[in-house]
Amino acid sequence: MEILGIQFSVERLQFIVMMLLILAVILYIRFLRKHRTPPEIEPAKPDLEGPMSDTELDRYARHIVLREVGGAGQQRLRKSKVLVIGAGGLGAPVLQYLAAAGVGAIGVIDDDIVSLSNLQRQVLFDENQLDIPKVFAAEAKLAALNPHIQIRPYNRRLTTEDASTLFADYDLVLDGTDNFKTRALVNKACVTTNTPLISGAISQWEGQVSLFHPAKGTPCYACIFPNEPADGLAPSCAEAGVMGALPGIIGSIMASEAIKHITGAGQTMAGEMLIFDALYGESRKIGLSRRENCPICGGRGEKNDQHVAG
Ligand SMILES: [Zn+2]
Repeated sequence: MEILGIQFSVERLQFIVMMLLILAVILYIRFLRKHRTPPEIEPAKPDLEGPMSDTELDRYARHIVLREVGGAGQQRLRKSKVLVIGAGGLGAPVLQYLAAAGVGAIGVIDDDIVSLSNLQRQVLFDENQLDIPKVFAAEAKLAALNPHIQIRPYNRRLTTEDASTLFADYDLVLDGTDNFKTRALVNKACVTTNTPLISGAISQWEGQVSLFHPAKGTPCYACIFPNEPADGLAPSCAEAGVMGALPGIIGSIMASEAIKHITGAGQTMAGEMLIFDALYGESRKIGLSRRENCPICGGRGEKNDQHVAG
């Protein structure tokens, strides 16, 4: 047989047709693999009101097995809305652990960008995120850590005008900012909106944590720290320095207090303050009580002389 001037024997033609058929089958299989229907995957943001999916049950298994948390506690975490003030030294570890723990909605407000000097302690961020607003850098990392929760970034400075409106949307506020004016503003908005406040602070080698909830009889932040410290008495981390692992320790304690507060496990630091000294590896707790005539929370508490600072 002659095709295009080339002589083919019948055997050779049969062989070529067979090879072409095999090639067609291979190409067809490849086409099917590429265009097959993808397997059913869970939506990235499941309905936080519905029952937990198998993936979530697996993800939170180490919580669910804890007697003090269990499935009910994990559901409470999933339905809770927590606002984190500041995505810096304390905010970064707080955000990581709250996101990993499955807090359903996490708001974060900060107007700063990621800078190189942050990376010595703010391990949520990396070198590829330099100059990016912290709230967006955090959102990207937290979404990658846990796609089953909502992250709400607010790329701005908290103001008196919007604090109360914003706080009304949340069940709990965690404040890790490093200036008195913001702390006072956060405290006032928390008292106004009846929102519990977990407050942390760090400087050099020492940190402290407390939970303020005057509606439940505890002091508010202003009961303990009523006045702005004089210039130079409370230097910022940029001025005084801070040991890299310290915000990880204090931020993790803040996240732990948040998890206990939401799930009802154990006893929180309401009405107490934990002080941790990393330089000597020491910690102590002191009792706090309400300041009479506190201009912020009304001073319904009894008179006391145990103030930590005045
Ligand atoms: Zn007060």
